[in-house]
Amino acid sequence: MTATSKSIVRCSCGTVELEASGAPITSVVCYCDDCQAGSRQLAALPDAAAVQDADGDSAYVLYRADRIRYTKGSERLQSYKIKEKSATNRLVASCCNAAMAMKFDDSRHWTPIYRKRFEDHAPPLQWRICTKFKAEGVEIPNDVPSSSMYPFGFIFRLVGANIAMLLRR
Ligand SMILES: [Zn+2]
Ligand SMILES: [Zn+2]
Repeated sequence: MTATSKSIVRCSCGTVELEASGAPITSVVCYCDDCQAGSRQLAALPDAAAVQDADGDSAYVLYRADRIRYTKGSERLQSYKIKEKSATNRLVASCCNAAMAMKFDDSRHWTPIYRKRFEDHAPPLQWRICTKFKAEGVEIPNDVPSSSMYPFGFIFRLVGANIAMLLRR
């Protein structure tokens, strides 16, 4: 994927569309408690498609926040939090209750997009993270590196993306 390429992701019914420019920061599967709770909350909405994979994990493609544009139907986006005080907002397309992306109230500079929304053009998976929270009996596949919490390379990429953003590269 080149720096100028664009990925378009849509909700299930096509009303809401967002555009991500350039290469993602990374693409991960997360097993943490918050992702499990958040994904369950969204999947329980009427007619919502599954958000988690069979192992209870949630898959995301992370982009620099300044590389995301809400190009269509953004007024249909509805925000959900698992706790009132949580800084994490999970954005759902209210037309079809498709889980779209996350937005943070704090200064985190990245935007995770739910990987399922990319359908067949999802960037390859790079890490399985926070595996210590996995449900009992779940075997972590060894297709990509995994980490009980956050692997160094993952943190490194997030920090690197912030520096690049500050430098307006
Ligand atoms: Zn929709
Ligand atoms: Zn998580």
